[in-house]
Amino acid sequence: HVKDSQGSNHCFFDMVMEHGLVRARIIESELEKAVKRAGQETVFLHYQPQLDLKAEKVIGFEALARMECPRLGTVPPMEFIDIAEKRHLIAPLGQLILGMACRFQKRLADEGHGELRMAVNVSAIQLLREDFFDSVMETVRETGIRPRDLELEITESMFVDNYEIINEKLEKLRKAGIKVALDDFGTGYSSFARIKELHIDTVKIDKHFIDRLLVGDPEEAIAGDIIRLSHRLGFTTVAEGVEEESQKEYLKACRCDVLQGYLFSRPLEEGKALELLKR
Ligand code: C2E
Ligand code: MG
Ligand code: MG
Ligand code: MG
Repeated sequence: HVKDSQGSNHCFFDMVMEHGLVRARIIESELEKAVKRAGQETVFLHYQPQLDLKAEKVIGFEALARMECPRLGTVPPMEFIDIAEKRHLIAPLGQLILGMACRFQKRLADEGHGELRMAVNVSAIQLLREDFFDSVMETVRETGIRPRDLELEITESMFVDNYEIINEKLEKLRKAGIKVALDDFGTGYSSFARIKELHIDTVKIDKHFIDRLLVGDPEEAIAGDIIRLSHRLGFTTVAEGVEEESQKEYLKACRCDVLQGYLFSRPLEEGKALELLKR
């Protein structure tokens, strides 16, 4: 036990809790400012290129949210997205992120990179909102991008509770031309028996299986199995978190379509992403 200035006893656990709550409160207030467009510099996006493995060229980017908090420094996306979800800020934050990503997509097209797509992560709470479809379409219209150049990334875990509702929502988005990717595939609950019914275009193989692409690992073959089965079901495959040349070669041999990972590039700020395309 530690005595504070008032002389009362605080146990270490309370202090840690309090510290965590103070931190969460600071993040929440920064998110509130960001969605009111009052702290626009705090939340921004980095863009990680996706590489077509066959043509060896960039086919698009995944937009990844970043937070640079004046008081806390860099806050990881998992942490502030989680707080946004719990504090009812994910809908406006998601809208802000979608708007930024689509505007960058438009800028890329205007600068002569018309064939690129933009992948944007979407949380379950966002997708389940009544107005989600309309707000996506409005953003697409406002920014002037083509629906087919936008891909929404959703995770398997979303399907646990609201399978039917979510699948209907995805179907509606796809009918409007928007693409859908199943993120972090293999970590969650869906099986191949189920994903064949999902209204998706792309399967993103989780980094876990890419890390297993090392000779001798008992799970070595799983990534290849996922790729083959995905192709049989008509889905495009993206390998996430590729860091080693040997993993790339393996994925190429398995005819994986797209590579994303530090081996090719880390997520980049806008200017750097544009520079990369000029090379
Ligand atoms: P994710 O959507 O699966 O994104 C891929 C994560 O892997 C990113 O982490 C990316 O920086 C990281 N990554 C990419 N290549 C490599 C690699 O070669 N090695 C390693 N070690 N990591 C790699 P990040 O940016 O920290 O994002 C973490 C998660 O936060 C995302 O996972 C996504 O679930 C969530 N997230 C990020 N931005 C958003 C957003 O705008 N909205 C929502 N709802 N979630 C977001
Ligand atoms: Mg993602
Ligand atoms: Mg992922
Ligand atoms: Mg992930």
